[in-house]
Amino acid sequence: MEIEEAREVRTTCPYCGVGCGVLAKVAADGQVSVRGDPDHPANFGRLCSKGSALAETIDLDGRLLHPEIHDRRAGWDEALDLVASTFSQTIAEHGPDAIAFYVSGQLLTEDYYVANKLMKGFVGSANIDTNSRLCMASSVAGHRRAFGSDTVPGTYDDLEFADLIVLVGSNLAWCHPVLYQRIAAAREKRPEMKVVLVDPRRTMTADIADMHLAIAPDGDVALFTGLLAYLGQHNALDRAYITTHTTGFGQALFAASALDLVGVAAATGLSEDELGRFYSLFAATSKTVTVYSQGVNQSSSGTDKVNAIINCHLATGRIGKPGAGPFSVTGQPNAMGGREVGGMANMLAAHMEIENPDHRDRVQRFWNAPAVAGKPGLKAVEMFKAVADGHIKALWIMATNPVDSMPDADAVEAAIKACPFVVVSDVLARTDTVRHAHVRLPAAAWGEKDGTVTNSERRVSRQRAFLRVPGDALPDWRIVAEVGKRMGFGEAFSYASPAEVFAEHAALSGFENDGARDFDIGAYAGVDGEGYEALEPFQWPEGGAQAGGWPEGVGTTGLQARFFANGNFFTPDRKARFIAIRPTTEIRTSPDYPLILNTGRIRDHWHTMTRTGKSPRLSQHIAEPFVEIHPADAQRFGIGDADIARVSSPRGDVLVRALVTARQRQGSLFAPMHWTDQFSAKGRLDTLTAPLTDPISGQPALKHVAVRIEKFAAKAFGFAVARQRPEPNTAPYWAVAKCKGGWRVELAFADDDIDWAGFAGSLFGTSLGAEISAYHDRDAGQHRIAAFDDDQLSGALFVAPSPVAVSRGWAAEQLSADHVDRRSRLAIVAGRPGGIDVDRGAIVCSCFGVGANQIAEAVRRGCGSVAAIGAALNAGTNCGSCRAEIRVIIDAQSLQAAE
Ligand code: SF4
Repeated sequence: MEIEEAREVRTTCPYCGVGCGVLAKVAADGQVSVRGDPDHPANFGRLCSKGSALAETIDLDGRLLHPEIHDRRAGWDEALDLVASTFSQTIAEHGPDAIAFYVSGQLLTEDYYVANKLMKGFVGSANIDTNSRLCMASSVAGHRRAFGSDTVPGTYDDLEFADLIVLVGSNLAWCHPVLYQRIAAAREKRPEMKVVLVDPRRTMTADIADMHLAIAPDGDVALFTGLLAYLGQHNALDRAYITTHTTGFGQALFAASALDLVGVAAATGLSEDELGRFYSLFAATSKTVTVYSQGVNQSSSGTDKVNAIINCHLATGRIGKPGAGPFSVTGQPNAMGGREVGGMANMLAAHMEIENPDHRDRVQRFWNAPAVAGKPGLKAVEMFKAVADGHIKALWIMATNPVDSMPDADAVEAAIKACPFVVVSDVLARTDTVRHAHVRLPAAAWGEKDGTVTNSERRVSRQRAFLRVPGDALPDWRIVAEVGKRMGFGEAFSYASPAEVFAEHAALSGFENDGARDFDIGAYAGVDGEGYEALEPFQWPEGGAQAGGWPEGVGTTGLQARFFANGNFFTPDRKARFIAIRPTTEIRTSPDYPLILNTGRIRDHWHTMTRTGKSPRLSQHIAEPFVEIHPADAQRFGIGDADIARVSSPRGDVLVRALVTARQRQGSLFAPMHWTDQFSAKGRLDTLTAPLTDPISGQPALKHVAVRIEKFAAKAFGFAVARQRPEPNTAPYWAVAKCKGGWRVELAFADDDIDWAGFAGSLFGTSLGAEISAYHDRDAGQHRIAAFDDDQLSGALFVAPSPVAVSRGWAAEQLSADHVDRRSRLAIVAGRPGGIDVDRGAIVCSCFGVGANQIAEAVRRGCGSVAAIGAALNAGTNCGSCRAEIRVIIDAQSLQAAE
């Protein structure tokens, strides 16, 4: 494809499930800039901090540019022949279930479609599962149980129409920031709108919440079964809706009534008063949307949680109406697209069911396939167990990093290492998973490939290429199709473009559909290259309309097609099913592992940092792995703020920085899942998590892990900046992060009897001619060493017996400064800014580099609102992702002033 320069290309953000439209521009000098697409209906021009920094993540540093076989460069033909012949031979010798694909919500729909078609239709196994299993499989299972289909009925507009939004296990402020901003803006316009946050932690999302319910881990089933019982007891049911459009209400209400309010309070850790206030608000507010994501899904009772929520909406008839409904929001950019093509081991393409012989027959005829898989395949956790026990002998991992992201990650890594044949398609040459591949296939990255993604509100948008594909990289759909051809299925995989793949996917969705299946984009079955290029974002269903009617479950509200508006669902009797759920609680802690670890995301990083880790701007917000601990627990376990803590489970341990905060629930810890062996010594959080899954969805319980915490007895702490990427492998604790002009490193040591000058030299990779300035006070354990090449700082190391107090932002800036005079060199060795420079503190606003100290100072000078801080410092005026944190600083300062 010919790429025009200096033209803005309409594409879509590759991070979260909000699916924001992005305008990307390549200037004549090759510089790329991005901005929010004002015409995209997901974001109307907004982007969060991650989206705004996309241009910083597209360099070719670390890219895998050529196929590799056993660590040597190979040509495409050799690599593809080897992959195809090994898979074919494995199938011939051991059967189709001896191979597996582990794919990703990062793939585009076209990639996903071709991979699923090859596995389920031509290999004849359903052993294809996706990292979306870790993200939203419980929502899929809950939807299918209640609606008879995996239908997300909500739209983003509903969040603006609602009078009450209940956010369950959803830290929107950090994980779906543009949705958070849409809700915040709607609330400003309609202050009567209420928001309730249900989360064990007081996350930044609490900033817009009228009520925060700090629920016990996995207390959600009890909370929502209790709500159903309350609705029944307080005459708040929609009896007509229940009778006409649902089945199973009596059993569901009976099961939900197992606990009285006192029992619900005990199971949720909430007071009866809190429960009463939430329940009465819900009962009184007909326009209610309940938003849920990983806090609900990543649980051994995730599917029951989803159905407990849906039960309350069915009981009140609050579904299929503007501003009302259950609303699952996905973590990944194309988790929904993966569901549409059947990229999960227990689904067939186009939302058809693998267990249904009619559906299998239909797909087989449509694909003209030799044999469609006859039974569900292995879900992610089962798949890696089958790799470990030798049942799976050939594995292809596409666009994901299971060595870091799967639960019981060390066992998964051992399984991959022991697997006889591992293929990894990725954009990077070095990840914790890529290093174990026998064959590495270079994939095209965001900005280099064309395709579609579907966001959380069922909106299909184009990703468009605006960069030339580097090296030998190819889009994933083409790599898979080439393997399919070489396995002898040439006719079925002879696509010339992603437009052809998309047209086939659309045609399958409409094939013998006649309104019986929810997923229908048959209107695009005839799309050609030109139409595909011009494709505007659209929401499905779009297919039935052309045939003279919507799918069975779709009605209209005003001009908008809306699922379930007519009260019809996709079950055989067209009625929604209540699911009888008994509230349960599970104690996983023990005297040896007395705390519950909750895992999740932070604002400015994404998954295993393979993309966001390249951005200095994003890396300055939080630059090392951490664990949040409540002050009472910190005291109990002897942990001080900024100590290094060892968190252990029966499967392993991690070393992370302790953050003592009352925002954390007592008895629970929180730690982010982003750090890998590429960025830290021992920060791979999923070494702790268990392969425990929800029995229905197979989704791992990543938010409830029994652990213990202890202080790592550090004798020395260090902080360093360096121009070259440092490899501080001799330190037991280290975490590296990109900064402008180089890298920054946090360090801790069990011993202080170290040759610090030698350590600094190895850290900086200093040349023989480097000029060294140093200060040593051995009695006080203070060492500061700086190395200069000409007028440039090549590295500075600061060592102290307690966490190093040097300003990180200032130290990092010295890498880009000229150091011609002695005074500026001495300032570095002194470890503090000279002259009038002030320490900005931890960076809060990534867009303008504004730190916490600057914001606090502005508050002390009279800025009492986020708008005033914006006017004074610009902070929060671009992407807005930091506004919640600014408000927290304002509140803290105001409280301090009042005391
Ligand atoms: Fe990307 Fe942020 Fe929009 Fe999510 S909210 S799609 S990360 S810009």
